[in-house]
Amino acid sequence: MSNKKSKEITKYDKGDLLTVEITDIGNDGEGIGKVDGYTLFIKDAVIGDVVKAKIMKAKKNYAYAHLEEVITASDVRVKPRCEIARQCGGCQIQNMDYERQLQFKQNKVRNNIVRLGGFEESYVDGVMQSIIGMEDPWRYRNKAQFPIGRDKNGKIVAGFYAGRTHSIIPVDDCLIGTKENKEILDIIIDHMNKNGVEPYDEASGKGLVRHVLIRKGFTSGEIMVCLVVNYKGKGGQSPAQFIKAQDSLVERLRKNSGMTSISVSVNTEKTNVIMGLEIHTIWGRDTIKDTLCGLEFEISPLSFYQVNPKQCEKLYGKAIEYAGLTGKETVWDLYCGIGTITLSMAADARKVYGVEIIPEAIEDAKANAKRNNIDNAEFYCGKAEEVLPDFYNKGMADDNALNPDVIVVDPPRKGCDEACLDTMLKMKPERIVYVSCDSATLARDLRILVDGGYELKAVTPCDMFGHTVHVETVVLLTKAAR
Ligand code: SAH
Repeated sequence: MSNKKSKEITKYDKGDLLTVEITDIGNDGEGIGKVDGYTLFIKDAVIGDVVKAKIMKAKKNYAYAHLEEVITASDVRVKPRCEIARQCGGCQIQNMDYERQLQFKQNKVRNNIVRLGGFEESYVDGVMQSIIGMEDPWRYRNKAQFPIGRDKNGKIVAGFYAGRTHSIIPVDDCLIGTKENKEILDIIIDHMNKNGVEPYDEASGKGLVRHVLIRKGFTSGEIMVCLVVNYKGKGGQSPAQFIKAQDSLVERLRKNSGMTSISVSVNTEKTNVIMGLEIHTIWGRDTIKDTLCGLEFEISPLSFYQVNPKQCEKLYGKAIEYAGLTGKETVWDLYCGIGTITLSMAADARKVYGVEIIPEAIEDAKANAKRNNIDNAEFYCGKAEEVLPDFYNKGMADDNALNPDVIVVDPPRKGCDEACLDTMLKMKPERIVYVSCDSATLARDLRILVDGGYELKAVTPCDMFGHTVHVETVVLLTKAAR
């Protein structure tokens, strides 16, 4: 035995095999363990495991290591239901008991608010509410986009890109998606095989079928299939062949119960962007309908729509509760998308204003207001950090608009722009409801809002994406008493 002092760190090198107990979980779900003060990050190792790991990349104080063998399995380790969970990379923590996944997410939000937001631990523990988990964390996604290509043996397959690469891992039946996905993909692949329809090849830019988008309205039962094609009308595939092939495909697909819309999206660019902007409906309607929070929404292949509608209703329910509406309030909903939160608050408010950067989403939001007979909602297209300050400086016809009671924000991962937060602080609403999909940027923004005169009142995480490391959070802030 060496007489090393406990603080002294031993550096290990690439290729070293170490036995380590996993004592923590990293933000990406990786297991973390220490050997002689030296920290190892090990993907697919679960907290509580004792594992044998091989160092792949060694730094001074830490290393990334590959899980070679689980020596003693943790109590919270479960066998992933999906055989390819480890390669696929979509579900980073499927090998962890669901209850433990929820605890991990709860802690992730809490720790980010403490560490990155600079809040007292005891204060944060006082405002944290329990995470809203799923009743059944399987088959929850209403949307899937499968790349189509060839596997190692040249077989046409639908699947997922293996984490951060461009090779396709065939997926038989993705268990967080709908049952119909597999039936539909089987028909498309069989059709391609029988009719010589080529999958797209990223390297050469040749071939036709790039992706298949499948969406299902969980309430309506309506299904949409959109084939993303590299359709130039020449090269490997003539337009005639293409159309003919799609016709017989349509005959087969439309027999699936629920099939409502079959379309083609043209994407001829060499790009990672999945959808092309040109959409042709080849059978049925252009859109499918679905109901969310009692409102009807029409969804086209390009629209953003929450992928887990059941949890989304719970999340919005919390946001509505935090907004504390009585029918008299003026509300801004920034980063409003197709207006789902805006419209679900409209009935209990005097007036709601939505702001969103994507023009098509704003068009959808306006149409959704009409469809649901909501006449107290107004939508503006532009960046929240420009639209809000502009109105604030120039004024609005509705005097109350610039003295709102509630501001809701639901920004993308990068969080809110400072100019947006500044204007929110100037507008001094009674309540701010912050819906976030990234608790690190949430923590940063909460610090700005609290320094600007708000009190952090309640934080509720919500699991919208079971088996992944992602977590949504809804937060209530109120104007601090002066
Ligand atoms: N609240 C909606 C959408 C949330 S997703 C819902 O729950 O469905 C975040 C939205 O912010 C996206 O629709 C995105 O297009 C939009 N967005 C991104 N940057 C923006 C910005 N700077 N200003 C306004 N909207 C923005």
